[in-house]
Amino acid sequence: MAEIFDSVPEKIKDFEIDERILKLAEKAELACSDTFAEIDRVARKNGERVLRAFINNKVSSACLAGTTGYGYDDIGRDTLDKVYAEVFGAEDALVRHSFVSGTHALTVALFGVLRTGDKLVSLTGKPYDTLEEVIGIRGKGNGSLADFGIDYDQVELMADGKPDIAEIFNKVKGAKVAYIQRSRGYSLRHTLTVDDIAEVVKSVKNANPKAIVMVDNCYGEFVETREPLHIGADLIIGSLIKNPGAGIAETGGYIAGRKDLVELCSYRMTCVGMGKEVGCTLNQNKSMYQGLFFAPEVTANAVKSAAFTAKIMTMAGFECYPKEDEKRGDIITTVLMKNPENLIAFCQGIQKGSPIDSYVTPEPWDMPGYDSQVIMAAGAFNMGASIELSADAPLREPYAAYVQGGLTFPTARMGILTALQEMHERHCLKLF
Ligand SMILES: *Cc1c(COP(=O)(O)O)cnc(C)c1O
Repeated sequence: MAEIFDSVPEKIKDFEIDERILKLAEKAELACSDTFAEIDRVARKNGERVLRAFINNKVSSACLAGTTGYGYDDIGRDTLDKVYAEVFGAEDALVRHSFVSGTHALTVALFGVLRTGDKLVSLTGKPYDTLEEVIGIRGKGNGSLADFGIDYDQVELMADGKPDIAEIFNKVKGAKVAYIQRSRGYSLRHTLTVDDIAEVVKSVKNANPKAIVMVDNCYGEFVETREPLHIGADLIIGSLIKNPGAGIAETGGYIAGRKDLVELCSYRMTCVGMGKEVGCTLNQNKSMYQGLFFAPEVTANAVKSAAFTAKIMTMAGFECYPKEDEKRGDIITTVLMKNPENLIAFCQGIQKGSPIDSYVTPEPWDMPGYDSQVIMAAGAFNMGASIELSADAPLREPYAAYVQGGLTFPTARMGILTALQEMHERHCLKLF
């Protein structure tokens, strides 16, 4: 270890990171070595599954070219759906650059499956912020699920952050859709592991065998070797500017799962009857294939960055969730920064260590839909991509920064170190 570090200080010094921070980083990385070995093992399994799916589905160079107009007989699009289906354990999938975001794909899935008089029950407390208006928890008369007569209920997570299995068993009895959010998203809740999800699925199917288990899979893909469909969920939904796009897919989302349900979603996405037979891919196929191909390894880099962040920030005196060696279900590390000065210094430092827009300074602003100011650090190749190193934080107690992503571990590691350096220069750190 010492020898390796002795041979590179010239290059590292280009960043002008304080020696004590560099030492801390060395220690943190060393402490993460068992965790990193496990992350590599997961990446190998997932990488093999992705490669197998490419081979089994005969992905050809013709698949990489796109279509225009109606997009009839788009072999690249149809084959990509099959590759995704195999990788995620689905009967069918809908992978499209025309999903504008994860929220859009989730919305298509909810409206695709639910009908007037049906009930949607969230099993993991309040869903991700952007879904509140879609469901109709906030706002009225704007075409939400509530406007179409779809009922909503939720089961809160227990005090330890785990799903409330007994309450789920009761509340899911009248539900058409039982909804699970895998990742913590931007809240302090616990992220579900695939084992946690399996327990929930079992309880739902026991109480109500007909209930459709829909999983918001955002940020969870490839973090473990199994996905929610492998353990009995019916539909998963995610964003291509997160894990499965690996920073290469330029935009888009996916829905995968039971064939009949994917068909209903495809009718909502385009038109009833036409479904997934139409929709040109322009020049997006290659990046979507290549993104999926890189996704297990890029996700592993992001998970390593998350573990490293948890370790070094804990050593620097900040509480982090989850801890470095805790089992991870997503790519996010929450760091409690204690006060606004620390939080702003940290986020601005992350920005300084980003490959794109490193010279701009993010400031807290009044983002629509939030009740406090928010600061966002992101210097990404794809705008808003959170598989790339980024940090978001609402300026309110407990001043939590949600840190995620990292296309490569070495660059994300340096991003975290520039953040610590920025904090040091503004006297937000105690170094020994
Ligand atoms: C990112 C995310 C979404 C979707 O967000 P978009 O910004 O619309 O892509 C939904 N749920 C969770 C948990 C997420 O992390």
